[in-house]
Amino acid sequence: MKIPFLDLKAQYETIKNEIDSAVSEVIQSGHFIMGPNVKQFENEMASYLDVKHAIAVANGTDALILSLDALNIIPGDEVITSPFTFFASAESISRVGAVPVFADIDPKTFNIDPGLVEKKITGKTKAIIPVHIFGQPADMDAMMQIAEKHDLYIIEDACQAIGAQYKGKKAGTIGNTGCFSFFPTKNLGGYGDGGMVITDDDGVAEKIKLLRVHGSSKKYYHSLLGYNSRLDEIQAAVLRVKLKYIDAWNAARREKANLYNKLLKDTPVITPYEAPGSHHVYHLYTILAPERDELQKYLQEKGISTGVYYPLPLHLQEVYKYLGYKKGDLPVAESISEKALSLPLDPEVSEEQIEYVASEIINFYKGR
Ligand SMILES: *Cc1c(COP(=O)(O)O)cnc(C)c1O
Repeated sequence: MKIPFLDLKAQYETIKNEIDSAVSEVIQSGHFIMGPNVKQFENEMASYLDVKHAIAVANGTDALILSLDALNIIPGDEVITSPFTFFASAESISRVGAVPVFADIDPKTFNIDPGLVEKKITGKTKAIIPVHIFGQPADMDAMMQIAEKHDLYIIEDACQAIGAQYKGKKAGTIGNTGCFSFFPTKNLGGYGDGGMVITDDDGVAEKIKLLRVHGSSKKYYHSLLGYNSRLDEIQAAVLRVKLKYIDAWNAARREKANLYNKLLKDTPVITPYEAPGSHHVYHLYTILAPERDELQKYLQEKGISTGVYYPLPLHLQEVYKYLGYKKGDLPVAESISEKALSLPLDPEVSEEQIEYVASEIINFYKGR
């Protein structure tokens, strides 16, 4: 059986008519950037997440950069984040001239460890970017307590966690800002790039609205240096269709994750841990597997595509050599990156496919 890691076409087939007519309407309208669909998508997201402001931007990376910029993070400041995430979580910090400081992760949730965050705080620390990795919220009570105590901003990197909840609160709604990505593979993905910042702070919202359009509120008059970070109407139209299904799709992901958990129970792999009070949306279903690389190769031979997220923690990336980290500095992130393997899981993957993947994992470990 051939099983792709992710089948975006399968999802499209389920909503083809709605998508095709939404896209066609945009083309007919002749309005392509930041028009009525973007405005309505912002309203619908604000209402879905129950926040005051939802500001569409060009991608998730920009959502982080514009958040940092709007909160006046400047060169010389330090911002603490996770080493076990997509590069953009740290790249955004460097982009505004600040210094990323990495704190190691919890071995069960793979999210930043609050105790270790506190140890990294210096007089230069201005903010923390907790990342809700793989769709499970970070320990936000602890983050908010640390922020309060040390007077820091919290920017939630919720790019993988739309619809996830922390003690009943939606991911992204707890910190000063929350950042989302609509990259095609995300749980809510467009057919191109897209992103969003959410906040309850009127001042921050106003500044982000200026920043995304060249620091301008009146055309050709510029009050600050901004960016070109707007969302396309076609993407907003697609995302408006898809937003209606996000809770059902996330529920399907959770069901499928549970099936994997059950089928892999008696194998040497460690299945994902869902912390008490957290509602995981399984952007990725990631196991910890002994002999990970051999297992991945074996599964590929059986037609099963898997992914390694992430093979090299950010503190060991070439670009961050100048920060002076070395192997062994953040041992949990380093060890997890050698064992993590993400299995095919999206709302469309069938039970039969999951059973096949699990049975091949069982076969691999048999006799080892
Ligand atoms: C996808 C992602 C981003 C960046 O989003 P883009 O839309 O690709 O710029 C940032 N952080 C995390 C954790 C992500 O998964």
